[in-house]
Amino acid sequence: MARYTGAVCRLCRREGQKLFLKGQRCYTDKCSVKRGTPGQHGQSRRKLSEYGVQLREKQKTKRYYGVLESQFRKYFEMANKMKGVTGENLLSVLESRLDNVIYRLGFGTSRAEARQLVLHGHFNVNGKRVDIPSYLVSPGEVISIREASKKSAKIKEVLEITESKLVPDWLELNRDSLEAKVVSLASREHIDLPIEEHLIVELYSK
Ligand code: SF4
Repeated sequence: MARYTGAVCRLCRREGQKLFLKGQRCYTDKCSVKRGTPGQHGQSRRKLSEYGVQLREKQKTKRYYGVLESQFRKYFEMANKMKGVTGENLLSVLESRLDNVIYRLGFGTSRAEARQLVLHGHFNVNGKRVDIPSYLVSPGEVISIREASKKSAKIKEVLEITESKLVPDWLELNRDSLEAKVVSLASREHIDLPIEEHLIVELYSK
């Protein structure tokens, strides 16, 4: 299945809330989330069944992280095998994706942009180039911007935009060297997204 390449703002309108898919634009009055549900005739939001509510929560979460169904399902299976609460484990795994980590560090203004920058080979993990957005980081690993990429106009622009962005406690960023250490895996209280992960667990447990 191909990655969704349509107008991403439609996805936010479909979910009825901001998914922050377009970087800086999401924080300005150019954000179009209030235009309502997309559709030829501007359909109003119907009352959803229990299944519908669970499905929407899963879709919304996939969209936040830019993950396709098959990969999302794999993450769920991983989370289910881990000790602890499956829903919280699922979010922790999603947060560990390299593209998400790059976004959290402010090395990308959105997860989509971070994904592109990873694909273009701008980052090292433990000193070696990693260009796989789905790479899952582990505690102790060091993420850095490659020396050549520090001179890139795009990277400079991104760093300027995200200069005052707060980095979550599970990551430790040195803004001078542009290196970050993964202190721990993200736990639920580190994750600021309005996700009701138990609904996803209920959906997959049917
Ligand atoms: Fe969503 Fe951002 Fe588009 Fe607003 S600008 S609708 S938050 S992607």
